[in-house]
Amino acid sequence: MTLNEAFLKARADLAAHGSDSAGLDAQLLLSKVTALSRTALIVHDDKELSEAESASFEALIKKRATGYPVAYLLGYKDFWGLRLKVTEDTLIPRPDTETVVEEALKEDFRSTLDLGTGSGALILALKSERPDGACCACDLSEKALEVAKENAQTLGLEVGFYKSSWFACPELAARRFDLIVSNPPYIEARDPHLRETSLPFEPRQALVSGEDGLDDLRAITAAAPAHLNPGGRLLTEHGFDQGERVRALFEMAGFSEVKTVRDLGGNERVTCGRKPR
Ligand code: GLN
Repeated sequence: MTLNEAFLKARADLAAHGSDSAGLDAQLLLSKVTALSRTALIVHDDKELSEAESASFEALIKKRATGYPVAYLLGYKDFWGLRLKVTEDTLIPRPDTETVVEEALKEDFRSTLDLGTGSGALILALKSERPDGACCACDLSEKALEVAKENAQTLGLEVGFYKSSWFACPELAARRFDLIVSNPPYIEARDPHLRETSLPFEPRQALVSGEDGLDDLRAITAAAPAHLNPGGRLLTEHGFDQGERVRALFEMAGFSEVKTVRDLGGNERVTCGRKPR
């Protein structure tokens, strides 16, 4: 079978299973098994696939057709221009989360903490933009931390990683930062979306936060002021319909200048507040 024939068959199979990114997915997976760039795939589309390549491509397409995320099949996801390793132990970074980075970069900061870092997406993006700042990140999942550390090493970015339930570990308990960011779990335990798209394959621990989805956001906003320098900022991602409740949590915790920023889709996505000077 030629590259072109393999591509067309895979695209048709994926489309028949309801994928709305069938062509792109087929191309990315074909690029993975042949180790050819997407451009090379087009230029050499009459090249024959080896038996081994055909077999592994077929296996990947079969798994993708079940809804299994492309990012896990590829083993990476691009975020803020950084190629990040992802595994089933980490959430797949979303473009919406880049809103946190954009908002953070509007101000100066010299020390940053990322709570629940997963693959390291937020802290590595911030460190890549402000290399002189001191950067720390935590996660409760040791397996996620291993992935984040590997990403930091591959990208040559220096970050201190800690296994911690939010601020609880000894290394973070007494520290203060100019900026705290987090994309915590925020989905309601009974949200039917958990059965859709990539969510069934991603770590539940990284997605779900109690009945109303706000357990972790409550814990973070309540504890954050004690870990911020005066004038420092907290930025948290949340669900599209949680803006009002999250702003209330920030206000109850004593934050000033509380506001919510919208993502590229126009949804309220990131709430920010400042610890009074
Ligand atoms: N934004 C993700 C989604 O709803 C959830 C991420 C999270 O819970 N932090 O697809």
